Amino acid sequence: MFNTFLIKYAEIGVKGKNRYLFEDALVQQIKYALKRCEGEFKIRKAQGRIYVDAEGDFDFDETVENLQTVFGIWGICPVVCVEDEGFEHLAGAVVDYVNKVYPDKKKTFKVVARRARKNYPLDTMELNREIGGVLLDAFEELTVDVHNPQIMLYVEIREKIYLYSQIIPGPGGMPVGTNGKAMLLLSGGIDSPVAGYMISKRGVKIDAVYFHAPPYTSERAKQKVVDLARRISYYSGPIYLHIVNFTDIQLAIYEKCPHEELTIIMRRYMMKIAERIAKDTECLGLITGESIGQVASQTMHSLYVTNEVCTLPVYRPCIGLDKQEIVELSEKINTYETSIQPYEDCCTIFVAKHPVTKPNLEHIKRHEEKLNEVIEELLEKALSTKELLIVRPAEEEK
Ligand code: ATP
Ligand code: MG
Repeated sequence: MFNTFLIKYAEIGVKGKNRYLFEDALVQQIKYALKRCEGEFKIRKAQGRIYVDAEGDFDFDETVENLQTVFGIWGICPVVCVEDEGFEHLAGAVVDYVNKVYPDKKKTFKVVARRARKNYPLDTMELNREIGGVLLDAFEELTVDVHNPQIMLYVEIREKIYLYSQIIPGPGGMPVGTNGKAMLLLSGGIDSPVAGYMISKRGVKIDAVYFHAPPYTSERAKQKVVDLARRISYYSGPIYLHIVNFTDIQLAIYEKCPHEELTIIMRRYMMKIAERIAKDTECLGLITGESIGQVASQTMHSLYVTNEVCTLPVYRPCIGLDKQEIVELSEKINTYETSIQPYEDCCTIFVAKHPVTKPNLEHIKRHEEKLNEVIEELLEKALSTKELLIVRPAEEEK
């Protein structure tokens, strides 16, 4: 029965000129999401509203599910459009609407009329009263509750008349493309995909970098990261995934530096390389999945030492979350099942039995000097041999 969706978005912060940027980006992202659905859709902006019209057959659930990946959408309202052919016609449509949408009529309701077109013969008070009366006459089980109704029936008088009462929650946030770009350090774990999702939710476009260490890490481990990027791309849009061969750098560190500092030194070089790629690709920040205290390399001391190599801001949206909270988010965004596949990532291969939990920056820097002769060349090589994949939702690659 529905052919139109009214898209509700939070208006806070989208006043004036920003409002157009926000709305245009939202329309773009809605188009991107609907490309994955069966059917043809038209998206229109009208009077500070965005509507999605299905032209012909479409799958309701699939359409809603894909709209729920669009950041910036606060609510998705399935709408019935009624031609303005007099009050009797409208009354018939309202009765039909309630009859179909609420098989169980033992409910309380309230009519909320709005007039965007002031030449309509009834004002909002009259509309509320008249339509309420029509419904009470039609269904004797319905009762009115103006304070806390189970059904809020919106009747909006515009060029046509729109009826709706359901608001399906969207993901919230801001449309991707309204807030610059950042580089996600994406591993095969649970945390970094969630981190990417959270920053993308604030309207930030994301690229990603993955460090692999063949033959110590397998093709399957790399494929897992591609799969994770694909899951994120449903929300974030296409992701440019840079795959960096980290083996030689890792071996050099293993040979020349104290083993208990291996992870932390490795993390510093990952950040360094990620930052170089970020700066070459107009990213304004780095994103990691770190969370305070989760592992030795994520104590406050370790984060201090890792952070020290970066000049770009490093966004760590999981920083204050417990593991369980991160797991719940990863389940919500569909990355969990992929993340728990048991393929080693390059952090876990050469790990020391007793990694430092309170690394000392001066010591670390001194120990890194042992790499002086080789490191610049190794960094150059890692950068010049990196692979670039553009990762998109599966449906788009067909
Ligand atoms: P995750 O679940 O994201 O793997 P983690 O708890 O396993 O995180 P670490 O392995 O210590 O934590 O890594 C911390 C962060 O460093 C990750 O969240 C990720 O952003 C980045 N990172 C770690 N390994 C890699 C890698 N091989 N490639 C890219 N980024 C990585
Ligand atoms: Mg990890």
